[in-house]
Amino acid sequence: MSPYPTPPPSLAAVAPLRQQVSDLHRELVRYQLVVWTAGNVSARVPGLDLFVIKPSGVDYDRLTADSMIVCDLDGTVVDGDLAPSSDTAAHAYVYRRLPEVGGIVHTHSTYATAWAARGEPVPCVLTAMADEFGAEIPVGPFALIGDDSIGRGIVDTLRGHRSPAVLMRSHGVFTIGKDARAAVKAAVMCEDVARTVHITRQLGDPLPIAPADIDRLYHRYQNVYGQSTATTDPGASR
Ligand SMILES: [Zn+2]
Repeated sequence: MSPYPTPPPSLAAVAPLRQQVSDLHRELVRYQLVVWTAGNVSARVPGLDLFVIKPSGVDYDRLTADSMIVCDLDGTVVDGDLAPSSDTAAHAYVYRRLPEVGGIVHTHSTYATAWAARGEPVPCVLTAMADEFGAEIPVGPFALIGDDSIGRGIVDTLRGHRSPAVLMRSHGVFTIGKDARAAVKAAVMCEDVARTVHITRQLGDPLPIAPADIDRLYHRYQNVYGQSTATTDPGASR
């Protein structure tokens, strides 16, 4: 046993995350995924049972690192002057149940939410969708805010699913990622493919992609695609 006492948990890791989470909210605005004060981003604090989330009801252009709220995994505020996002309980539930998740995003982005209002999954009919989602984007149950039911619906739908995005029925989009930036990317891509597949539907029935091809695209993109291999991978197109 070490002769030295265990140091107290440090909140040093929280400061850069406050800035990152504040900055990532600007991406929701930039990609037109949110209106007014709807939507939110959160990030798990590595090594601590805490996460950083947006305050409730504050305009996007007034968000700062200092205005972000730090909560424990029960959703109780441990640092911050404002009330946390009204979706804090849902974020906390997901962090408790899915330890691999490092970031969560929620939006009511228009096209994806239109699919959610129909309660219809977005079918995987685009190669970009196979890359990012590896499957259809699934629909989660109808759930009211105020208890664990939204969080439970997210976890029950996404656990074991390749998609990092779920369309909560009649509500909107929740995405997860290994960190907050990955969850924001999933939210941006979710809206993009929801829009394209919607427009496709106006033209007629989208053509299916064979499941084996979806598998190949997904594995290649998840395991090969990226800056470090781009020079040796002439097939990389983005
Ligand atoms: Zn919402």
